[in-house]
Amino acid sequence: MADDIFCQIVAGRIPAEIVYQDENMVAFKDIHPKASVHVLLVPRKHIPSLAELKAEDAPVLAHLMQKAGAVAQKLGVGKNFKLVINTGPEAGQVVMHLHIHLLAGKGLPQSP
Ligand code: AMP
Repeated sequence: MADDIFCQIVAGRIPAEIVYQDENMVAFKDIHPKASVHVLLVPRKHIPSLAELKAEDAPVLAHLMQKAGAVAQKLGVGKNFKLVINTGPEAGQVVMHLHIHLLAGKGLPQSP
């Protein structure tokens, strides 16, 4: 059974600064923020990466995307934010548990 660092956060075994959670996902502050608002939207279910998303798990991803606006609103950045999904080590994915970076505010990286 997978037990990466996000599995451990989702299970409450290691601490994180949680800003939103429900039965399908947890959103918490990135420990090394790249912008003044940098939150990770993480499914409770272990899915290693977007490249391994099965059709049956598509609703999990849709749920994360759907909640992004509400999380951004809660963090005071309204309707101005960027979502990033690093997929695979060569694209910068370090934690092999699907997650969406929600970035906003000062220091927001520019588009590729
Ligand atoms: P990625 O490179 O897309 O896999 O992003 C992984 C992100 O997880 C990085 O931005 C890290 O700073 C962040 N991260 C790693 N460990 C933790 C942790 N314990 N709590 C919060 N964020 C973390």
